[in-house]
Amino acid sequence: MPLSNGRAYLAIPGPSVMPDAVLQAMHRASPNIYEGELHDLTDSLIPDLKAVAMTEHHVAIYIGNGHAAWEAALANVLSAGDRVLVLATGRFGIGWGEMATGLGAQVQTIDHGAQSPIDLAQVEEVLRKDTTGRIKAVLAVHVDTSTSVKSDIAGLRAAMDRAGHPALLMVDCIASLGCDRFEMDAWGVDVMVAACQKGLMTPAGISFVWFNDTADAQRGDRVTTYWDWRARVNPDYYFKYFDGTAPTHHLYGLRKALDMIKAEGLDAVFDRHAGLAQMIWAAFDVWSQDGPMHLNVADPAHRSHAVTAVGIGSPNGDRLRQWCEDQCGLTLGIGLGRTPADAFFRIGHMGHVNAHMIMGVLGTIDAGLKALDLPHGKGALEAAATTLARRA
Ligand SMILES: *Cc1c(COP(=O)(O)O)cnc(C)c1O
Repeated sequence: MPLSNGRAYLAIPGPSVMPDAVLQAMHRASPNIYEGELHDLTDSLIPDLKAVAMTEHHVAIYIGNGHAAWEAALANVLSAGDRVLVLATGRFGIGWGEMATGLGAQVQTIDHGAQSPIDLAQVEEVLRKDTTGRIKAVLAVHVDTSTSVKSDIAGLRAAMDRAGHPALLMVDCIASLGCDRFEMDAWGVDVMVAACQKGLMTPAGISFVWFNDTADAQRGDRVTTYWDWRARVNPDYYFKYFDGTAPTHHLYGLRKALDMIKAEGLDAVFDRHAGLAQMIWAAFDVWSQDGPMHLNVADPAHRSHAVTAVGIGSPNGDRLRQWCEDQCGLTLGIGLGRTPADAFFRIGHMGHVNAHMIMGVLGTIDAGLKALDLPHGKGALEAAATTLARRA
């Protein structure tokens, strides 16, 4: 008999685990959307959303998932025919580029593959060659969730500056916001997008675009009334925040999630994610001493603290995921955007996650390897526990 009944654990890289407090905050009758409490609550979100992004500029809220924020960000700065430079480190960079193509942009892509971060020297060289400044924006993904590759965004800005190129720097932090350190203003980012269902611990459905005045001044010809970020940042005109009915319950949930982040402290949140990632890496260092299972990203400096992509050989990714779910109630992430997909799996460790949950994930994977008779180095749990003990 499987031992899967009990509280299920969705350890995929978004949607992430929802705190009970967030769910309870959402469990209520619909509020009046025309005046009163909901307006005050929405106003209160703005400074806290800026704080998690470490920016003093603007943030617009959209009812939609991360893809909506991608489109919103592009629509506000692009004109038909504009060139954008996409720096792909996995499926999501490619996807954002495809959306730019759909909006009529000319997309130039540097594909860094599925295991390496953005090559800053290569970007600098490409920008130097663009002597007429045709590239209007550089699109980067901080953490590509399909590969768990993390890129150096401050370094990217420095490379753009060295090339003396005026392009906007637009960054997808959908997987990293509230997990891996990100400093929008200090790092010189002009536009950043994120969604609520990953580090922000709220059910999928709202997303955000942060932007500075430099980006706003670049306004092109693609933006429609609905996507226009200018209207959405005008607090005097509540109905333009959302261009229609507010996402009422998401706002209550997000308020609670931001309260939780504030109470823990952003530095402590980053530190917790780093510590949990180190436990996972310690286990994989041991497992990968024997057999096919290995981390996708070799250099710890280029690994996400929120998601871990793993190669394990076809079809073992699917077999292991199935075993963990059926036998133990643990759902791992699929091998997204990889070929063959069943040679990979991913672990989400973003948001409302702590050390005992990670020990549970690692213990379940260890049992799965044994049950499926997949070769693996022995002692991974010992290594993870030792890492945890030393840290604590
Ligand atoms: C999840 C994710 C997306 C897509 O977000 P959706 O809410 O699924 O549209 C885009 N980029 C990154 C880096 C992500 O992690």
